[in-house]
Amino acid sequence: PLQKIELESILPQQKWNDIGGYEHIKKKIKQVIEWPIIKHETYKKLGVEPSSGILLYGPSGCGKTLMVRALVTESHMNVICIDGPKIYSKYLGDTEKTIRDLFKRARQIIPCIIFIDELDSIASKREWDCNNSNGVNERVLSTLLNEMDGIQDLKQVFIIGCTNKPDQIDDALLRPGRFDQLIYVELPNELERLNILQIISKKVLFNNDINLNKLSKKTNLFTGADLENLIRESGLYALRENILSTKIYNKHIELILKNKIKTLK
Ligand code: ATP
Repeated sequence: PLQKIELESILPQQKWNDIGGYEHIKKKIKQVIEWPIIKHETYKKLGVEPSSGILLYGPSGCGKTLMVRALVTESHMNVICIDGPKIYSKYLGDTEKTIRDLFKRARQIIPCIIFIDELDSIASKREWDCNNSNGVNERVLSTLLNEMDGIQDLKQVFIIGCTNKPDQIDDALLRPGRFDQLIYVELPNELERLNILQIISKKVLFNNDINLNKLSKKTNLFTGADLENLIRESGLYALRENILSTKIYNKHIELILKNKIKTLK
């Protein structure tokens, strides 16, 4: 069995089925990353180069990180996590060295996924950086580009970047062979919100006056994280009302929802 090696942060276990909605995105991620490993020979016979990088972008709280966690958990591949802002250092050469070391490690533990969260913090467009600290960003970016080109031939190291600011990512990173699969993880639609609420409802005790269909209709513009938060706050409210309470009632959700919708407007 593969040994799971995680650096920089721990990725908790996650199952694909516990992510509500986004079926097309889940399928696409599995195709891009898992197929080249499982169907290695088919790719070779066809002479088709698999992609080596996915960029997941979109609003915060829509499940980008969850999807990477599910991929890692269910594919049993190794993972190296890079938290963009955390590895960024102003000291000469520090960030570049960290990136080189992490890619080197990834090459030693194939098949491996390199997950870069908040990619924009280490790969912003060169024009954004004219006032930047002594060209650090420029050097970090070129190290990243070099390393990404270096893993292309291996075909067993994949890189997934996440960002809420895709317009700030340098174009050079989006060329073929780098992050060539761009996947937009948008706000969940009504059906997706229902799926997410159904998943959340397995973890809490709802009274039977709660109608998830109606709730998903009323939560337009809510992200998965907003829905999770809505239910959590409703639960806390139920407890404040009665510390012995064992269930969340519709009235608790309605009250919290009213305030949240006001803030969203
Ligand atoms: P950021 O860009 O800020 O990192 P993100 O898109 O990576 O955000 P996640 O960290 O994956 O968002 O999601 C935050 C939390 O919201 C999750 O831990 C989960 O509780 C909940 N959540 C978000 N989307 C979903 C979903 N589709 N299904 C179930 N829970 C979800």
